[in-house]
Amino acid sequence: MRAIVLTGANGLFSAGADIREFNTPKARTEPNLLTLIEAVEASEKPVIAAIGGTCMGGGLELALGCHFRVATAGASIALPEVKLGILPGAGGTQRLPRAIGLEAALNMIVSGSSVPAAQLRETALFDEVVEGDALAAALVFARRLAAENRPRERLRDVALREPNAEAFLQFARTAVAAASVGYPAPLKCVDAVAAALKPFEEGLRIERELFVQLLHSPESRALRHAFFAERAAARIPGIDESAHIRPVERAAVIGAGTMGSGIATSLASAGLPVTLVEAKQEALDRGLEAIRRNVEAAVKRGKVDALAAERTLARIDPALAYDDVAQADLIIEAVFEDMEVKLAAFRELDRRAKPGAILASNTSTLDLDRIAAATERPQDVIGMHFFSPAHVMKLLEVVRGAKTSDDALVSAMRLAKRIGKTAVVAGVCDGFIGNRMLEQYVRQALFLLEEGASPQQVDRALERFGMAMGPFRVSDLAGNDIGWSIRKRRYVEKPHVVYSRIADRLCELGRFGQKSGAGWYRYEPGRREALPDPVVDALIAEYRQERGLAPRKVADEEIVQRCIYALINEGAQLLDEGIALRASDIDVVYLTGYGFPRYRGGPMFHADTVGLYNVVHSMRRLAADPNLARGDPGFWKPAPLLAKLAAEGKTFNG
Ligand code: NAD
Repeated sequence: MRAIVLTGANGLFSAGADIREFNTPKARTEPNLLTLIEAVEASEKPVIAAIGGTCMGGGLELALGCHFRVATAGASIALPEVKLGILPGAGGTQRLPRAIGLEAALNMIVSGSSVPAAQLRETALFDEVVEGDALAAALVFARRLAAENRPRERLRDVALREPNAEAFLQFARTAVAAASVGYPAPLKCVDAVAAALKPFEEGLRIERELFVQLLHSPESRALRHAFFAERAAARIPGIDESAHIRPVERAAVIGAGTMGSGIATSLASAGLPVTLVEAKQEALDRGLEAIRRNVEAAVKRGKVDALAAERTLARIDPALAYDDVAQADLIIEAVFEDMEVKLAAFRELDRRAKPGAILASNTSTLDLDRIAAATERPQDVIGMHFFSPAHVMKLLEVVRGAKTSDDALVSAMRLAKRIGKTAVVAGVCDGFIGNRMLEQYVRQALFLLEEGASPQQVDRALERFGMAMGPFRVSDLAGNDIGWSIRKRRYVEKPHVVYSRIADRLCELGRFGQKSGAGWYRYEPGRREALPDPVVDALIAEYRQERGLAPRKVADEEIVQRCIYALINEGAQLLDEGIALRASDIDVVYLTGYGFPRYRGGPMFHADTVGLYNVVHSMRRLAADPNLARGDPGFWKPAPLLAKLAAEGKTFNG
């Protein structure tokens, strides 16, 4: 034997380390990845990596330790560690710059994105990039190597020469710092890559140190939690994996308003023919126009090409009658949020849909079980709660009614994946997971205004915590009238619950947010920038005066604590009631649908990080605070599950 060819099974090289092993004894068992790479690199016989399919993370680090590399043009090359809040810790940050240059390596390591091998053809990373089979090409290469007696080449021996390295790194640090607020890993990636300019062993030591620091950081723990939480959400406990999956070849959407047009865009973009049913011609035309705009925007952003866009549009079949829904395997109703209208629509669907078709409602607040009861087939009825804009937002709450069958549920989850959504199962209740928690968060935000904070202060404090947008900016974007109509219902349904009326005042002035040019902020025509508005300050001051509320100085920490703990407590309540299946599902809802910072892992993981004992302790302190007397006195009572886990020293996420 004169040479060794290293490859992976099934035509791919390696997708990297199993991240479940991080921080476990298994990760410390020899030979670990570093030892393995050292052994490969030290081999007297040349080692050639035959790279097909995927070569990522630890897999790429192993390939970099080989003496030669032969890849297929389409192989996916990446060091994605940064996405989990860490950096490549087995020499990747030292060897990759030596192979492809400082700048290209930095881009790959800081972004974590995959690059096809063909794009790196001209670099020293690959000795050959071939169109066909990597293994066959590597074997030919190995024989030639042996025949020529070509010496081994080790990337560690390459001295990285970059005349403008310092200036480049300085620029990179500034750019990366600005783009990664809250995330420590990207900047540490820059530091590690910069160490590649030092002697190899020293660089390796620095990389190791930075890796270990990141591995133990709360941000990396949170990102890894988010990664697993998203995978876990697709599995439904107690449902047999082999539950029959109903094939979905054709869909129908009822109602072509804001949501219906977005849902139809989403389905058609994923290749499904969609019958779009409306009650009125004008509404149908408006819906079709909205779909066209959605698709054109995707072309503009380079997401799809013009041909794919035309095909998507051609899949939409507009209709003014329910006749055509008989063909559909899945029908999603998105008519007005009015029980009578929904019941009439479902009775009609029950008459027309084919047996076994999934009948889904996009209702946000209505009782799905009542809707299901309007049909003779409640087992086929399910909630599919999309978020606006439905063709953009990843989150989908799949609502399981009392009679929803397992196979309808599993099929809806499968369909969600097919159309690129992150689906989470929720039980029937008003608001499901996301909006039910949001209501408590917003209630606190409004109490804070009564007590002395301004909308800007509340938004700023929560945005500094990491929320993509503060609650008042979100409300202006979504439309303040939505919350208003929900509150009006609550005043009747739950007269004992204390609500601040301050937002109602705003709505009474017609300040519905961006769509009306003013809300909690004012907006210049055609612009989305939220500008502070003295009219709102005056309105709040007047409201406080009328109610005899003396404003006090509210600290940013208090804002964050009250709003976020309100989310957490309601989340615990949802778990107790079985509306959410697991704490990590709640985290997924908030990470994908509500702009919760990923580096904090979601509200329930954040609670675990703070410590449930500490959360409960702070809630008891808030309950006893006389400053908060106007708020709901029962508000800060810890949910039974939260109190129990805190007392037992446990966490939500096990
Ligand atoms: P919308 O008013 O924009 O659209 C509703 C459409 O349904 C209208 O075009 C109307 O003409 C049509 N329609 C009414 N009755 C019909 C019938 N019998 N047959 C066919 N079409 C009919 O409302 P929307 O904002 O798209 O909301 C639709 C549903 O989605 C509601 O249940 C709402 O609660 C839910 N939802 C809305 C949002 C949101 O942010 N807007 C988010 C999630 C869920």
